[in-house]
Amino acid sequence: MNRRTKIVATLGPAVASAERVEALERAGMNVARLNCSHGDWDSKRDFVKWVRELHTGLSPLAILADLQGPKFRVGDIEGGSLAVQIGDRLTIGAGHGAAIPMKDDEIFAAMEPGSRVLFGDGEVEIRLGECRGGVFEAEAVTGGEIKSRKGMTLVGKSFDVPCLTEKDIQDVQEAVKYGVDYIALSYVRRGRDMEELRRLVEPLDPEVRLIAKVETREALDRIDEVIEASDAVMVARGDLGLQMDIEDVPHAQKTIIRKCNLVGKPVITATQMLESMMTSARPTRAEASDVANAILDGTDAVMLSGETASGSYPIEAVRVMAKVAATTEATLGTRHRAGQKLSPAEGDSTTESVALAAVQIAQALKVRAILTATASGTTPRAVSKFGPSVPILAATWDTRTQNQLSLVWGVEAALMPPTENTDEAVAFLVKSFVERGMLQSGDRYVLATGYPPGTRGSTNMIVVQRVP
Ligand code: PGA
Ligand code: MN
Repeated sequence: MNRRTKIVATLGPAVASAERVEALERAGMNVARLNCSHGDWDSKRDFVKWVRELHTGLSPLAILADLQGPKFRVGDIEGGSLAVQIGDRLTIGAGHGAAIPMKDDEIFAAMEPGSRVLFGDGEVEIRLGECRGGVFEAEAVTGGEIKSRKGMTLVGKSFDVPCLTEKDIQDVQEAVKYGVDYIALSYVRRGRDMEELRRLVEPLDPEVRLIAKVETREALDRIDEVIEASDAVMVARGDLGLQMDIEDVPHAQKTIIRKCNLVGKPVITATQMLESMMTSARPTRAEASDVANAILDGTDAVMLSGETASGSYPIEAVRVMAKVAATTEATLGTRHRAGQKLSPAEGDSTTESVALAAVQIAQALKVRAILTATASGTTPRAVSKFGPSVPILAATWDTRTQNQLSLVWGVEAALMPPTENTDEAVAFLVKSFVERGMLQSGDRYVLATGYPPGTRGSTNMIVVQRVP
């Protein structure tokens, strides 16, 4: 089935072989996510190699390196973990003898009696009491296991820490060395954080596209400037659900997606989409609905984290996600935009105006596909913004652009030899998608492209044609 929504799958120990990575791709993975919070670059090197050496004949994958950001973690607990039950009294702090030791001064400095502290994805919550000698008394509000090095969150507090840690800066250098296509930044608080990341990445590799993970209240409060400063956005529901009340997350998801749709920036909906598939071969009804509803909200991509990185059914999870996505889309026709009427960007937006016209012509004439020849991916991204009901088939001579288009809703990308000649480019486009079975002789298509070819950001031409 022809699927328009893209799937981001996180790679980890559960899929650590060339065969499993290939199985993920065959199941429907479009973007391979490397989570810098886990594992080192020695293990990531293998993943990069396996992804780049795939020979399935499908569109290439994009590789996304996800930076850990300033995440606070529990120190080393004696024995590795601590099991707590509701009402248990325990100690936590930077001082000597705390049952839960801490190393991060910033979060410790912000803790006070009455503070709520969450561990992991929020499974365990404790409330702080008095502090003596750097150690807080605390009481467990929910029970569970607190493990060494687990993430910890202080509810309702923000920290004035640098947005890029030493580790992030090193990870950026490694990621660029391995030629990743996207870099995502965690705990973004404002547009300036993304600009700082760009200043770091640009001199190393200006073609890498940058993703803001929206998972703090500050980022949500300044969502417009965060989107503006980013190439794509992630609704990072895991941490979002810790930093705000969980009942506010669904609305935040819809707001972020709608705002990204309005400006045509790809948006990924992430975390716990098929969580039960960590241990079960089938998802819950609620999870299947969650994936479908994110698509109805207008998300470009849906993401799997633990489900593929360390779960028991990684391939099945991608397969289920792909099926739910394809079925949901089939019942929608055109891309659902939550009632928004989209228009080209203000100002001189020739590309978006041409893209919108191409989509309208494609719908009116019921053509088979919209074709684009593109250098940087600007044209297919602009067409994608208007969510046509037909596939967006792109050809580019830039492998990086081809990879990056794997994240973009509705776009299939082929690689073509460099050419200055529009007829040659079109002939190549048609031939490659006929070979892939996406076009047939006699099919009508709309071509949107820049003329003369090879100049970046100059979409100014629409042609309606039939496949010979
Ligand atoms: P993470 O980000 O998995 O890196 O924490 C996603 C999220 O918080 O939802
Ligand atoms: Mn997160």
